[in-house]
Amino acid sequence: MGEKREGRSRDEAERREGGLHVLGAIWGGFATTLKHLFRRPITQQYPEVRRSLPERARGRIILTRDPKGDERCVACELCSAVCPVSCISMQAAQREDGRRYALWFRINFARCIFCGLCEEACPTLAIQLTPDFEMIKADPLDLLYEKEDLLVDHCGKNTYYDYQEHCGTGEKGMRPGELPPVDPKTNLP
Ligand code: SF4
Ligand code: SF4
Repeated sequence: MGEKREGRSRDEAERREGGLHVLGAIWGGFATTLKHLFRRPITQQYPEVRRSLPERARGRIILTRDPKGDERCVACELCSAVCPVSCISMQAAQREDGRRYALWFRINFARCIFCGLCEEACPTLAIQLTPDFEMIKADPLDLLYEKEDLLVDHCGKNTYYDYQEHCGTGEKGMRPGELPPVDPKTNLP
């Protein structure tokens, strides 16, 4: 009996606390509205006056190069796999030295929702979103960007990362001086 009463009063206290929290949130919202009601409106005269967007703003996508000037993209298709609207396509090819690259690389910006998932997934930091958002076109076909439209001559946001150095360039998949990888089958009993 005593336990039941204790439980009920605990429930009531929690309900009261929850109610106060909601009231606080509502009054907070009203206070913000009132604060802005008496402020002078700020109208930006775009396009004459342009706001500088943060570096991480998600706009037009580029394909960057590593610090040596080589294409970073190794056509692993991770960006394409993660893209929720399937707007990235490419074909992989291999250079004479065994390094992979994208023979062609296409982004359909008419479908892109600038979510940034491709950038998150890219292991080489090749694909990057930029703050440039001025890419409206009358014809949706003009929003099909090919590799030559996407590939830039700089490293983008990261000026030092070199995927090939990071993962090894000596032999395929090895750094110079690195021991050869262990064959997991030799560990079998
Ligand atoms: S930003 Fe999002 S929608 Fe656009 S290409 Fe990248 S993953 Fe796809
Ligand atoms: S841009 Fe990055 S994730 Fe996409 S294929 Fe190239 S290396 Fe892979």
